[in-house]
Amino acid sequence: MIPEWLKRLSVVIPLYNEEENIEELHERLTNVLSSMPFDYEIIYVDDGSTDRTPALLEKISSSDEHVLALSLRRNFGQTAAFAAGFDFCRGDVIVTMDGDLQNDPADIPKLLEHIDECDLVSGWRKKRKDPFLTRRLPSMIANWLISRVTGVSLHDYGCSLKAYRRDVIKNLRLYGEMHRFIPAVASWYGVRVTEVETTHHPRLRGKSKYGLSRTVKVILDLITVKFLQSFSTKPIQFFGSFGLLSCLSGFLISLYLSFRKIFLGEEIGGRPLLLLGVLLIIVGIQLIGMGLISEMLVRVYHESQKKPIYVIKKILGKKEK
Ligand code: UDP
Ligand code: MG
Repeated sequence: MIPEWLKRLSVVIPLYNEEENIEELHERLTNVLSSMPFDYEIIYVDDGSTDRTPALLEKISSSDEHVLALSLRRNFGQTAAFAAGFDFCRGDVIVTMDGDLQNDPADIPKLLEHIDECDLVSGWRKKRKDPFLTRRLPSMIANWLISRVTGVSLHDYGCSLKAYRRDVIKNLRLYGEMHRFIPAVASWYGVRVTEVETTHHPRLRGKSKYGLSRTVKVILDLITVKFLQSFSTKPIQFFGSFGLLSCLSGFLISLYLSFRKIFLGEEIGGRPLLLLGVLLIIVGIQLIGMGLISEMLVRVYHESQKKPIYVIKKILGKKEK
């Protein structure tokens, strides 16, 4: 059932050179949304398109009062486009989807059915209609990897069709190409995440903006996300443990070589092991130093912006001002 507290829905859609899809998309979206029992707004974010997308958005926004169209100055990428949309949305629930009609607007009510018991409902393109070798296979590996590393098991991290409660989005800052990691990051903050099967269509018009190179970026982003999850408030534990290990091995190697030199009178000047020992000690000290600098950065980050290291769900009782 669609919850009663849902008074207004915001739909955020990034568009980059989607001139051939916008009109049909808007028509289908409006068909679905106008039959729902709540108010809605559609936020189209033109991500620096160079085709007729801005002109079409101008037309649509002037004829439909439900539409807010943002135009970014240049192509900032899908994540930035989502972030821009989030900053402007006023709905109790926010739905994101692609603007190329690969996601089906008809699935929106299906997602909303679960928004009462969960805070984030993610679409799962079970029968995904993309090329196998360049898109589905890399994505299967990425989904497996992300689920394993982040501990948040989803079949389809890449699906843009998702529904979020307002507070999930408003407490989130997005960087780089991190929008696919929202469920993982959100779930670490205690947000309840679920997934729902959704339909997926092949891209009929316009070109996909991504290729195989995205896989490498996803892996790098995953490393960032994992690091932030585990060590963002205690970086010395990450850098320091490698640093200490490195120093200790370097020290043991140097001790061994010193022993051979002093007690057995051997020449050690030409031994590669000496180089390794010295290198390990230097790298170790640098890692510990990096950990300490990171510790200072963490304090600057949290204290200068009054960012807490916890998330409050609810406060009951009287609050003294
Ligand atoms: N998109 C965007 N900025 C970009 C790349 C893509 O706003 O730099 C939009 C694009 O217009 C589409 C959505 O993001 O609405 C998904 O892009 P695409 O269909 O190319 O990705 P795929 O479905 O192939 O993964
Ligand atoms: Mg697409």
